Amino acid sequence: MDHKTILKKLKLSIQLMELHDENPFKIRSYQSALTSLERGDQDIMHLSDAELTQINGVGKSIIEAIQSLKSTETFPALDLLIGKTPTGILEILQIKGLGPKKVKILWEELGITSTHELMEACQSGKVAKIKGFGEKTQETIIQNLEFKASNAGKWLYADIEETIASLEMEIKQLLPDCELAVVGDFARKMEIISQAEFLISSDDLIPVKARLKTLESVSWDLTNSGPKTLRGKVRDLDLSLTFHFCSKGDFAWKKLSHSASKAHLLSLVDENESVAEKLNKKDFSSEEEFFTKNQLQFIPAELREGFGEVELAKENKIPELLQDSDLKGILHNHSTYSDGKHSLRQMAEYCKSLGYEYLGISDHSRTASYAGGLDIEQVMKQQAEIDALNKELAPFKIFKGIESDILGDGSLDYPTEVLASFDFIVASVHSILNMDVRRATDRLVRAISNPYTTILGHPTGRLLLRREGYPIDHRAVIDACAAHNVVIEINANPWRLDLDWRWIRYAMDQGVKLSINPDAHEMDGYADMKYGVLIGRKGGLTKEMTLNTLNREEIAAYFAGRKERIPVM
Ligand SMILES: [Zn+2]
Ligand SMILES: [Zn+2]
Repeated sequence: MDHKTILKKLKLSIQLMELHDENPFKIRSYQSALTSLERGDQDIMHLSDAELTQINGVGKSIIEAIQSLKSTETFPALDLLIGKTPTGILEILQIKGLGPKKVKILWEELGITSTHELMEACQSGKVAKIKGFGEKTQETIIQNLEFKASNAGKWLYADIEETIASLEMEIKQLLPDCELAVVGDFARKMEIISQAEFLISSDDLIPVKARLKTLESVSWDLTNSGPKTLRGKVRDLDLSLTFHFCSKGDFAWKKLSHSASKAHLLSLVDENESVAEKLNKKDFSSEEEFFTKNQLQFIPAELREGFGEVELAKENKIPELLQDSDLKGILHNHSTYSDGKHSLRQMAEYCKSLGYEYLGISDHSRTASYAGGLDIEQVMKQQAEIDALNKELAPFKIFKGIESDILGDGSLDYPTEVLASFDFIVASVHSILNMDVRRATDRLVRAISNPYTTILGHPTGRLLLRREGYPIDHRAVIDACAAHNVVIEINANPWRLDLDWRWIRYAMDQGVKLSINPDAHEMDGYADMKYGVLIGRKGGLTKEMTLNTLNREEIAAYFAGRKERIPVM
C-alpha cells in the first residue's frame, strides 16, 4: 500500500457511496477529508493516527479506514460497497466524463451493468434519449469507450519501469549463468508499452524454463508459448510478458532483432540488403561489431525506429544525444500561487538543492480560473517575492514566467505591459480543445507569432492513454516557431511527452530549439525531467538544441535578448 493507492481507494469509496445513495453528510465528510489529504504534503503511510487527526476533516471513521487500508489494503465499508456493485459498473465508473450520478441513471433506467451493454445502448441511441444526457454526451461516451478499448493492456513507460526492473533483477538471480536483456518496445524507450519482453540465452533450455516458472509474479499462458518462447502476464497488472530464448552464440543478433522496430529492420543498409538481412548473417558477436562490420555508425537502441536513423548512420551523422547532466535549470513550474502544491520558496530551494542553477516559475494565467490563475495583482506580488528570494538564494536565480493560456483567438492572457514584466512566457492551450485542425493550428500560430511568447507549451494537449490531443498541423506549427524564434516544449510529464518525439528531428532541422520542461506542480514533479530526456533522446535531441542546457548567465542573456527585439508598439 502506498500514499497514492490509499487516496485512490478513498476516492472509489466516495464514488460508490454516491452510486448507492448513502447519507450525503457522510459523503461530504469523506470528500472533505480526501481533499485535505490530497492537498497535504505528507505521505499518509508515514503519518501516525495522532498526526492524521490534526488534518482538516479527518475524523474517526477515515482514520479507521486508513488504518485498515495500511494493513489489509481495503476497509470493511469499501468491501461492502464493492460487494453490492456489479464489476461492469466499477469499470464504467472509470470512464471519463461519467460520474456516479450518471452511472446510476444508466444502471437503473437502462439496466446497463457492463461497458459492452453501455456501448450497445449508445449505438442504438438509447442513451441520448435519457433526460440529462443528449446526443453530445452519448457521442463522448462512445469515443471514450473506444479510446479505452484501444488502450486496454497498455501502460505508460513510467508506470511499468519499476516492475520491469524488478523482474529483471529477479531473473538475474534465478539464472546467473544466462545472458539476459530487456528487449522490445521497452528497450527502445517507447512512451507506451503493451508488452514486456526479455531475451535469455542458454544452451540448455529445459532447466532454465523450469526455474523461470517459479517466478511468483507471473501467471503463465502455456497455450500461447512455444519451444523458443514463454508467454504470460505480470500478475496484478494487465501487462503481457514474453520471454524469448536463444543459444549463447545467437544472443547478440537476437538482441538486435528483438529490440528494433519492424521499420528499422526493413531499412536498407546498402543497395541489396536491409538491416534484417545483415543481421541474419550472424557474422558478429556484439552489437558494436555488427555496426562496424556494416560500415554504420553505432545506432543507440532508442533510435532504432526506422525514422531515417540508418541513413544518418551511413553518413556518420547520428549526433551525440542529450544527457540528464546537460540540463542546467528547470523551466515551466507551478507554485501555490496557482494550482501547485508547494510554495514558491519550497520549489526554489528544492530546485537549488538538486544542483540546478535556475528555476523558471510559470503559474497559470488569469483566464485559467479552474487552476487558480493569477490576476495582475498576484503577478506583481509573485514578482516581488521572486526579487526577494533571488537576493537570498543568489547565485541561484528564479526567472519570472507565466504559463499564459492561449485564448480561443490565439491571443495571450494579459495586456502588453504585464506580458512585458515577465522574463519568459510559456504559451499553452487549456480550453476549447475541440477545434478542427485548421482552427487549432491557426490559433497556435497566432500565439507563436506574439513577440512575447518564448516557449510553446505542450503543443497538442494530449494525455497519453487518457485523451487524444487536439489535432494540429505539426509542420506548420514548427515552421511558425522557426520563423518567430519560439522554443517548443517537450513536456516531460509521462502522461504528456508532448511535443511527440516523432517531430523532434524536424524541429531541430528547422533550427527550432526544444526545452525539457517537467510542468511540475510539486517538488517531486522535477523527477519527471528524466522522462523528458528519455523521449528527447528518442527523437534524436542534442545538447546544443536544448534550451535549458544553457547555464544561468546564458539563459538570462537569451531571455533578455529576445525581449530586446520586441518592437515597441
Ligand atoms: Zn499547461
Ligand atoms: Zn503547466
